[in-house]
Parts: sequence; structure tokens; C-alpha cells
Amino acid sequence: MTDLTDPVLKFAMDKDRPRICALDLDGTLLSYGGWQGRDKFGEVLRGMIEELQILRDEGVKIVIWTCRPDTPALREHLDTNEVPYDYVNEHPWNGPDNPRKIHADWYVDDKGIPVDGVVKGLARRILSHRPWWQEEPWMT
Ligand SMILES: [Mg+2]
Repeated sequence: MTDLTDPVLKFAMDKDRPRICALDLDGTLLSYGGWQGRDKFGEVLRGMIEELQILRDEGVKIVIWTCRPDTPALREHLDTNEVPYDYVNEHPWNGPDNPRKIHADWYVDDKGIPVDGVVKGLARRILSHRPWWQEEPWMT
């Protein structure tokens, strides 16, 4: 029996909502070379705006999902660079009692590790992963 009070299931089964892409900011949407300050942002990665526009043309909502707070400086950086996006760190299809992680159909992140159902070797893959902008992984 399906538990429709489960917010994860409710989100997954909602046929009226748009598809949602949660997109990390630093090192994913923007270049990143380490923390420079709350209102210091990298440049938009080349080609990213065109890719995001393809998603939006397909009806996908883009949620900037970042550890940074949603500040006027962040919005100004996104708007000045004409980044196509819909929300920052939240969206209206999220349940009312959600933890920090938002519901989404896709999570795009420079630190993300894909999980394909095969767990063996996952710890090694996690420890040896490094974001593209980081010279050394945590463990080699
Ligand atoms: Mg990142």
C-alpha cells in the first residue's frame, strides 16, 4: 500500500508538478577555486547558460541548491550573468516539513557520486573522487 503521507513518495507521484533540477553553485554553475567570501562568486562556466536554457525549454525548473545563503549579492550575480533559474534553495513543490535537502528529479553537483545500485567499491569511489577544480582527491 502506498503511503501518500510520505513526502518523498508524494513528490515522486505528483504528476502535475514540473521536473526539478537541483543545481549546485560553486564548482558546478560557477567556477570555484576555494572559499573567497560570502559575496565572492566565480564566473559562470562556459556553455552552462545554454545548457540550462535547454532544460528550461523542456519545462524543467532550475533550483540553485547551494550551501550559501540566498542573498541579494547572489541574486545579482545570477541576474547580471543572465543565468536561467527559477528558485534558490527551495521551491514550491517541496513539502512543508522537509529537512535541508530539497526534493528534485536530478541533483547536479561537482561533489556528487553517482549510485547505480552497485554498492561494492562505493567507499573507494567516494574517497578518491575530487571535484574538477581540486588538484588532489582526499585519498588517492
Ligand atoms: Mg560545489
